[in-house]
Amino acid sequence: MDLELLRRTLADAGEPTFRARQVWAWAARGAGSYHAMTDLPAALRARLADAVAFSTLTLADEAHAKDGTVKSLFHTADGRAVEAVLMRYRDGRRSLCLSSQSGCPLTCTFCATGAMKFGRNLTASEILDQALHFRRIEEVDHAVFMGMGEPMMNLDNVLAACARLPDVGITHRRTAISTVGWIPGIDRLARCEMPIRLALSLHAADTALRSQIMPVNDRYPLADVLAACVRFHEAKRRPVFVEYVMLAGVNDRYEQAVALAELLDPKVFKVNLIPYNPTGSYDGSGPDAIDAFRAVLEEQGLRATVRLTRGRDIAAACGQLAAARA
Ligand code: SAH
Repeated sequence: MDLELLRRTLADAGEPTFRARQVWAWAARGAGSYHAMTDLPAALRARLADAVAFSTLTLADEAHAKDGTVKSLFHTADGRAVEAVLMRYRDGRRSLCLSSQSGCPLTCTFCATGAMKFGRNLTASEILDQALHFRRIEEVDHAVFMGMGEPMMNLDNVLAACARLPDVGITHRRTAISTVGWIPGIDRLARCEMPIRLALSLHAADTALRSQIMPVNDRYPLADVLAACVRFHEAKRRPVFVEYVMLAGVNDRYEQAVALAELLDPKVFKVNLIPYNPTGSYDGSGPDAIDAFRAVLEEQGLRATVRLTRGRDIAAACGQLAAARA
């Protein structure tokens, strides 16, 4: 729900200031409508239902994978596409993948969102409403900004949403912002009080190759980005998680693993190798190639894990559902 509109509507109705907190507390605990908020006067509930849409997003499509993953496609009030995913793990973890923008201006060549037209930054309420949608299904405890968009290009709204996520059940330590390496944003997150985790999409240790698959590398060169990550680590004393999407014959060779290990201080960085969800332009590395790459990193003293793939049968990678509908 648009929390600013809520605040104004309550003020116009002459309601005491605690009402906004009361409504938010219900929403954050997964209430399904204003009518469920039983400690609010009935007349006020009806007034809110008329004046403030319960969500800033309408659900346009939802896909359920065999592994329990749920992927939702929403539309904003002005018709922009937004995707979010609920990932369910065997250990009980419930992790949300949230979008910060509709579309993305950064054109990474392997990413379905990068191939879409950029729409706009999402508001803090539109970000929170993705989380509330899933909270109405069940309790949730982790969030990653790995959906559509570059969160560091919309950091005011992303951080405003993060500030409220603990009410929904997701602490800052269980929240991660993933970036292409947007240096001003990394520095700001390092200064931010909230202990939010930082993940860096690296994908190639070699500068020319990185620029080829992530054009933003020309604007923020990798060496400067890594220096910003080291500053983040010094300020926060928290590891930086490196994402490396495994593209067959592109960035998965032995020498490329060695070069990656040379670049990263194991006291600062942990690597997460990501099996590619094919979206057309590349082939993903197979499990053996990924495992061999991981072994090389480990031999070089770098901690490396392979990401568990979720929702492959429902096109759950970034931008895939919206692209399929376009
Ligand atoms: N713009 C931010 C966050 C969104 S993308 C960033 O780039 O970090 C989140 C992650 O998903 C990134 O690491 C991105 O490289 C990865 N990704 C995008 N498309 C993918 C695909 N088809 N398969 C696997 N990972 C993908």
